[in-house]
Amino acid sequence: MHPLTDLSDLAELVDALPSGAVVTEPDAMEKYRFDWSRDQTAGHPLAVVRVEDAAQVQTAVRWAAEHRVPVVPRGAGSGLSGGSTAVEGGLVLSLERMRAIEIDVDCRVAVVEPGALNAEVKAAAAEHGLWYPPDPSSYEICSVGGNVATNAGGLCCVKYGVTTDYVLGLDVVLADGTLVTLGGKRIKDVAGLSLLKLFVGSEGTLGIVTRALLRLVPAQEARSTLVAAFGDVGAAARAVVATGRRIRPSMMELMDQAAVNAVEDHRPMGLDRTAGALLVAQSDAPAAARAVEVETMRAACEAAGATEVFVTDDPDEGELFVAARRAAFPAIEARGALLLEDVGVPVPQLPALLAAIETIAAEHGVEIPVVAHAGDGNTHPIIVYDAGDADSERRARAAFDDVMRAAIALGGTITGEHGVGRAKKAALPDQLGPEVMALTRRVKDALDPLGILNPGAIL
Ligand SMILES: Cc1cc2nc3c(=O)[nH]c(=O)nc-3n(C[C@H](O)[C@H](O)[C@H](O)COP(=O)(O)OP(=O)(O)OC[C@H]3O[C@@H](n4cnc5c(N)ncnc54)[C@H](O)[C@@H]3O)c2cc1C
Repeated sequence: MHPLTDLSDLAELVDALPSGAVVTEPDAMEKYRFDWSRDQTAGHPLAVVRVEDAAQVQTAVRWAAEHRVPVVPRGAGSGLSGGSTAVEGGLVLSLERMRAIEIDVDCRVAVVEPGALNAEVKAAAAEHGLWYPPDPSSYEICSVGGNVATNAGGLCCVKYGVTTDYVLGLDVVLADGTLVTLGGKRIKDVAGLSLLKLFVGSEGTLGIVTRALLRLVPAQEARSTLVAAFGDVGAAARAVVATGRRIRPSMMELMDQAAVNAVEDHRPMGLDRTAGALLVAQSDAPAAARAVEVETMRAACEAAGATEVFVTDDPDEGELFVAARRAAFPAIEARGALLLEDVGVPVPQLPALLAAIETIAAEHGVEIPVVAHAGDGNTHPIIVYDAGDADSERRARAAFDDVMRAAIALGGTITGEHGVGRAKKAALPDQLGPEVMALTRRVKDALDPLGILNPGAIL
């Protein structure tokens, strides 16, 4: 990569794009340097380019390829792994202005520009009695482009799957500026290699998504919500495993005591501060089956030692508990600097993973509140440390690495939904091994031979 030395080259790009598209004032660029993880290694970009259509993306990428300038695609910047952290001397390619959404009711497909927020797609689908299920906790502040690029999960994936399960087609600008259309409004399509899915979860390292065709389903049925309190996280995890053997709830979230108390400190919601862990679960099965599912969950919780089980069919009351779970990240963020984990394991290993996290917290003398999309084995241990204390930070980083090792040892993954980004790339070879890392490198080199797309992410 050759750092740009001649700023007159940038004038070519400024001239080729509409007025105001290329931003170079340092103050205006500051907020584009970081995602939610506030990666302190973020560089200072040469420019932020705020594109309005795919042709402008092509123009910017062709310019970058010619001048060997790194390009970091950026959605809404809510990522938690440093995936859209700015690279020194590079372009930040912001898709935030590309927001159009069209609903094709007959095909049950949303045609979406990448900057549209997840919540905006849900709202547009709901106007037609349809539903776009993927629901990251951040659904009100994250973009579809970012969701596709990270293969985002969320609260209902335990039953409804993750982003990739809804991606029928993508338009992608490749590293040389070529625009390709992959897939389409077809429920079935096996023509050629499965290139469409190669781009889902590629974190901006293989191409830039400029349009997505997303599968919609009929609006979700009414939901019943179950909230169970346990003396410790192990008991809650055993209830999750037992439930998973019998049924698929439409949500099964876990908060440990530290997470519950962080939420109560931040925004009191009446949660039981004394509980060692809370499970918030839902069923959206049709009426009679819903009652059976709720009773199945209740029985699993009681058998695992729940101290209290509460059930409501009132959607507003249920939503209050879900909102408390969604509030956990911002609440824990108020306690100090954070290292956010996203490790996942096969569901039966969940009790062992949670036990390992407790041991790691004690060994390193750090606080690790845990929230989890427990029903799919995906946990978010959140390591809290004092940013002004070098020893506290050192212990937090050691705990961060040990949590990933523990997950791998249990047959799990270092990231279930946030992506590798920059925060986790050092641990990726430990999970994938040398052959898969070499294959990954060959794919990257084939699609981006100059290495200009999001350099430093994943690899
Ligand atoms: C409070 C909170 C809760 C969260 N909860 C969840 C959760 O439940 N589940 C979950 O999965 N995530 C969650 N996240 C993480 C985050 O919201 C997701 O990773 C989301 O998908 C990122 O979208 P974004 O638009 O903000 O992307 P960004 O942060 O801007 O970018 C993320 C990655 O996508 C790439 N990218 C963005 N747009 C494009 C594009 N058009 N083409 C190619 N690459 C692109 C970037 O280069 C980067 O690598 C949460 C975050 C927060 C702050």
